[in-house]
Amino acid sequence: MKALVYQGPGKRSWETVPDPKIQKPTDAIVKIDTATICGTDLHILKGDVPAVKPGTILGHEAVGTIVELGASVANFVIGDRVLVSCVSSCGQCRFCKEGRYGQCLNGGGWIFGHLINGVQADYARVPFADNSLYKIPSGLSDEQVLFLSDILPTAFEVGVLNGQVKPGDTVAVVGAGPIGLAVIMAAKLFTPGKIIAIDLADSRLAKAKEFGADATINNGTENAVKKVLQLTGGLGADVAIEAVGVPDTFELCAELIRPGGRVANVGVHGHAVTLHLEKLWIKDVTITTGLVDTYSIPQLLSLIVGGRLDPTTFATHRFPMNEAMAAYDVFGDAAKTHALKVVLETAATVSKPKATVKTAVHA
Ligand SMILES: [Zn+2]
Ligand SMILES: [Zn+2]
Repeated sequence: MKALVYQGPGKRSWETVPDPKIQKPTDAIVKIDTATICGTDLHILKGDVPAVKPGTILGHEAVGTIVELGASVANFVIGDRVLVSCVSSCGQCRFCKEGRYGQCLNGGGWIFGHLINGVQADYARVPFADNSLYKIPSGLSDEQVLFLSDILPTAFEVGVLNGQVKPGDTVAVVGAGPIGLAVIMAAKLFTPGKIIAIDLADSRLAKAKEFGADATINNGTENAVKKVLQLTGGLGADVAIEAVGVPDTFELCAELIRPGGRVANVGVHGHAVTLHLEKLWIKDVTITTGLVDTYSIPQLLSLIVGGRLDPTTFATHRFPMNEAMAAYDVFGDAAKTHALKVVLETAATVSKPKATVKTAVHA
């Protein structure tokens, strides 16, 4: 089969590799129909994630069809269309039993395109299939559910639920890239009073408005704390959600939060951050962190079935799977291409009606 292979820092290739095989009775082999590229894949390519060994197939977000099942897989049959979660779950360890799949002790957690071969390929081996795949309700297109592999559950669980967004809240979202936009989309499920998006790029702030932000602040040209205070009667935001992963944006969240408010960190940090406890302790501020568990996938699927959630707006560009190399170029140059999510489709899925409704608008 063909796959997108990490070849060490700065190097990737689209090449022929051996087909995956069932290794354990709990495995499934999934034919990948649709996949997408994640900011994490770019981090890996930069060499930021040394656990990823050269020769690893990248990718952890996909929709596919089961073509082979290990002997003990009970919840699926061959031919089922499934969503592959970015997080695998053994279903049996203490963390999986409490829904904390990201912390799985038995070899689950984030493993695709990280510790084992990923899903930007014709086929993928899915360990712990019973607990790590989700059957796609009939009538939904691949693209309607694809972003439930990672960005929507990440935004919902680590941002909106950890931040305890409530009806009427003022929610400040710091960072308006794909994850920040997913936070805005997920926060709207709770009918906040106001969503304020903060970013350094006007083009991303314009996107944030499209996704439902009520106010935007460019913190390169405006004083974000001052503006949030103005917008909140001098109190600060009820919830601040960090969706970048650098020290400045986390510290900004801690500055613009109201007394008793909640800061939810979603960003992936690579550097130490200063926690101004000397200012925060007296303000009753709650700070949460987390890795996505994807326990909310069934709930998010129900919202899509019910017409309450439409993540297809994230798909800005589409490529056939065998043009994955070009797709990476476009996704990696998002400042110019304005790519949010780049969809990779295998030949059979390219012409599905729903997947072609919205074509690439940012050439
Ligand atoms: Zn991802
Ligand atoms: Zn587990």
